[in-house]
Amino acid sequence: MTSENPATTQVAAFAIGYTQYLDAEGHVRAPLPAFARDAAALREMYRTMTMVRAFDRKAVALQRTGQLGTYAACLGQEAVGTAIGLTLRHDDVYIPAYREYAANMLRGVPLQNVLLYWGGDERGMQFPEGTPSHNDFPFSVPIATHIPHAVGVAYAFKLRKQDRVVLASCGDGATSKGDFYEAISSAKVWNLPVVFLVSNNQWAISLPSSRQTGAQTFAQKAFAGGLHGEQCDGNDVIATREVLARAIERARSGGGPSLIEAVTYRLHDHTTADDARRYRSEDEVKAAWERCPIKRLKAHLVAQHGWSEADEVALNDEATANAEKIAQAFLAMPPDQPSAIFDSLYAKLPRQYEWQRDEVVAAGPKGGHH
Ligand SMILES: [Mg+2]
Repeated sequence: MTSENPATTQVAAFAIGYTQYLDAEGHVRAPLPAFARDAAALREMYRTMTMVRAFDRKAVALQRTGQLGTYAACLGQEAVGTAIGLTLRHDDVYIPAYREYAANMLRGVPLQNVLLYWGGDERGMQFPEGTPSHNDFPFSVPIATHIPHAVGVAYAFKLRKQDRVVLASCGDGATSKGDFYEAISSAKVWNLPVVFLVSNNQWAISLPSSRQTGAQTFAQKAFAGGLHGEQCDGNDVIATREVLARAIERARSGGGPSLIEAVTYRLHDHTTADDARRYRSEDEVKAAWERCPIKRLKAHLVAQHGWSEADEVALNDEATANAEKIAQAFLAMPPDQPSAIFDSLYAKLPRQYEWQRDEVVAAGPKGGHH
């Protein structure tokens, strides 16, 4: 903006950094960070994404056959969760929305817990003691309501002088909510050790990014609050991991909060209750498959690290068997007590709910499970 008024001063100017190492074909486009020159580390990332994709496929099949409630697939977005899970430290805290299953898995959540959750069983959100996930937050289906919680947790870490970082992830749609703006604004004012990660999968259910915001990027929303903001290719697991590692280090060393926009694509319907064919074209989805995170890392592994067809078949067999095992563990879980619905909302149950709980307990369990 220019002005004829000499009293006008320019207060801010910005460019949006965009980090990509592997392009859609798996070609290396910039000098790789150290971890990505290690074949074992690359294989670990590839293995994680493949395991989660097989799990995701199985979860959709369970829903389609009436054995699971509504499920939000992570198809096409496996790189973001993998990068989160490999970057946070054990005693950091992860505050998720609900689609980054790779992060939950890497932090120690058995994936049958994810199925329990989508099966309406709150035991799914009880994460195992002794694992990094134990202090993580449960899934948040209400959009953006968990982002201010991240600020509160980060404030506590700063107050206690603890060397811990909070990472909160959300979708593109969440960035339009007041909660989101309140959170990023407060985080910078208090210079808190928190990273906000926006998984921009191009769609908020049926609303495209172009109708979500008038801004050219979601990352630039950081600048109004004075935060660091940048984009990465969210389908390039190396780029996402590297950019997150820098943001987490910035937070840990007192450099304050960051807003990272991981540019990805939701290849599946929003959830199993949605039919994306009603609002987006087949051509768009077909083009997005070409940018898939698994395809490009495989191409890189084949070209640079001797990944063979036998390796691929063995990994896919393992992933399919693992997904089947997870499904069986879920289906074999005995149902929770019907009174469990009263257990977690209040520290002390209000009296009117005590009566209701007592009635439920007296009536006893009904019907099948899940
Ligand atoms: Mg979205």
